[in-house]
Amino acid sequence: MPPIAKVVVEIALDREFDYQVPAELSASVRLGSRVQVPFGRTTARGYVVGFADHSARTDLKQIAALISPKPLLTETMLKLARWLADYYAATIEQAIRTLLPCAVRRKGAGFRERTLVTLAGALPDKTTLAALRRRSPKQAAILDILQQEGELPLAALLRAARTTPSAIRSLAEKKMVILARATAWRDPLADQVILPTEPLTLFPEQATALSLVKQAIDTLKPSVVLLHGVTGSGKTEVYLQAIRFCLDQGRGAIVLVPEIALTPQTVERFYSRFGEAIAVLHSHLSDGERHDEWYRIYEGRARVVIGARSALFAPVERLGLIVVDEEHESSYKQAESPRYNARDVAVMRGRLESCAVLLGSASPALESFCNARNGKYALCELTHRVDHRQMPRVRIVDLRQEAQPTTGAILIFSRELVAAIHQRLDQAEQVILFLNRRGFATTVLCPACGYVAVCTHCAVKMTYHKGADEVRCHICGRAQRPPARCPKCLAPTFKFSGIGTQRVEAISRAIFPKARIERMDSDTTTHKHAYSRILGDFKAGKIDILIGTQMIAKGLHFPGVTLVGVIYADLPLHLPDFRSAERTFQLLLQVAGRAGRGDVPGEVIVQTFAPFNPAIQAARRLDYLSFYDQELAARQELRYPPFAHLVCLTLSGLLAEAVQRAAQTLAERLEQILPKTVILSPPIPAPLSRAKGQYRFQIVMRSTSVKTMTAPLKETLKTTRFAPGVRIIVDVDALSMM
Ligand SMILES: [Zn+2]
Ligand SMILES: [Zn+2]
Repeated sequence: MPPIAKVVVEIALDREFDYQVPAELSASVRLGSRVQVPFGRTTARGYVVGFADHSARTDLKQIAALISPKPLLTETMLKLARWLADYYAATIEQAIRTLLPCAVRRKGAGFRERTLVTLAGALPDKTTLAALRRRSPKQAAILDILQQEGELPLAALLRAARTTPSAIRSLAEKKMVILARATAWRDPLADQVILPTEPLTLFPEQATALSLVKQAIDTLKPSVVLLHGVTGSGKTEVYLQAIRFCLDQGRGAIVLVPEIALTPQTVERFYSRFGEAIAVLHSHLSDGERHDEWYRIYEGRARVVIGARSALFAPVERLGLIVVDEEHESSYKQAESPRYNARDVAVMRGRLESCAVLLGSASPALESFCNARNGKYALCELTHRVDHRQMPRVRIVDLRQEAQPTTGAILIFSRELVAAIHQRLDQAEQVILFLNRRGFATTVLCPACGYVAVCTHCAVKMTYHKGADEVRCHICGRAQRPPARCPKCLAPTFKFSGIGTQRVEAISRAIFPKARIERMDSDTTTHKHAYSRILGDFKAGKIDILIGTQMIAKGLHFPGVTLVGVIYADLPLHLPDFRSAERTFQLLLQVAGRAGRGDVPGEVIVQTFAPFNPAIQAARRLDYLSFYDQELAARQELRYPPFAHLVCLTLSGLLAEAVQRAAQTLAERLEQILPKTVILSPPIPAPLSRAKGQYRFQIVMRSTSVKTMTAPLKETLKTTRFAPGVRIIVDVDALSMM
């Protein structure tokens, strides 16, 4: 090894430091090694990211120690870290931190050990044993249990023999049993009994898709396949069989699913097929479980990883396939730096690892479908549901027609929806009601003077929550009692208008008093097991009507559901965001997909004030292609993604004036330095102009090349001084423009 190591130190910012490799470590320090180095007056931990023969400095210090003998990061993963840092304008330390879970990096994190007890050999001869039974029946009982069970953890043995450690200790002193320390794996699936399943027979479209994916895996070259399959078309079975193919070739696989869809149901499906080969990584694991799962993958004992966004970085060796299910999902985007999109990073990891990437969705992101159309990705389509089940029928209800003519008040349940629900309840079928807004009322209004309750820290209205009798801000979480009087005109009563899921629940209970109704949103699922319980009850048929937010829209499979009612489809349409039409369409398609997954055909009723909106019309026909074509034309006209990459800069701070000035300065500097191919929008207040007390301004850049924007930007940010307290967030390929 060359004598000088380049080290990224965990506490420093965006720099590599040179260190001498001491002779005694020169054989063991490798690329990706975790090391301890002297740093200033203290020491720090870091990673070796490169080697060199010479350094510009002459006063180099030596690496103090090697923390892990086997490197935690492979050369490929280091390349991926560098790419993350460059592409998303983040620092290299942030990128490396993203690749390794905290539970693996943290000081003191480690394996949990436990003591195992085994018999030292054969049982003692009859006379000794008989003597032992008389003198010390407990010790004899321990031997009996071990004889029957073989090896047992100390704690379990103590419980089984109802005895104390001293009995076991004296057996160990007599050399009749052996105590040994061993790693106790913390297994997130430990208490579950999951029956194995066999591969299903594929329908012709599925078989075609599978053979295309197998080909992609076989080439040992990077390739991306987009699997565009309608809801219920059996995409998961294609994933499962592609993974089996990978395993048979001695390669591993990673499956990403959106956090919200990573239900016990989903994990079970994979576990039942691959058993112990499965490792699970998601945010609900304890640190210990995450640590152990990571090492199970690292040591090659788990070859298939299923998890949310960050599972993409699992240390799977000889990776053959990365599956990104529901690839259009916005939850694949990380909210802090580096603000990466796991779908896009999956494609990059696939390129670096020379493996296949399979993107699946019923409503692919425009970016992905565009890549498939222009030949960058292979495209395969599943146009039918499995078992020849019909696609649900979608009916649009024009809420403008439903408004009560005398008062102008709006009905939350149209007559059509009420009739349809009654019909399903009579037939003992299940109903899902969907509204992507929680709470009871979304506007707290004084009818006398028009005052509306607004959060004092954020530029948003407060939402009224009935159970707790509170108004809450959904941005910063502040909650308070609703004011007794209007703070402006002192009028004593407020009007609660605008609907949330809580109100939909209250009205449902009034209209359908006999129905068993449950609500599922982030308010009702704060308890750890509430989510599983509600889903379990629904699946078991103990709930007739399930009301919920997007939590119930995605990936769930309930054969008993024959009607889905969308209470108010227009909500995302009104967001000031160029993706609002795409989002509306995707969400409607997903929700509609919950209907008719059993033997009875499904129906979807979509209530809207904009029945002729193209996104809603396309959703009515479940017609992805026509939506895609018309939306793409609009994007091209405006030069928005996928025709350009978009970088959103958000500046925030406590003083509006300072933030605005900083935004202006930054925009002026960028104007000077950016090439003319970049479209730079002038700074404006962000759509969410104030959040958590911070004023927010936005600058948007667009260009066909990310590098032409991020490289000058990084330079500008390094050399420009902004007022203290002004924070700048760089979001490359931003998904939300709020
Ligand atoms: Zn008032
Ligand atoms: Zn707030």
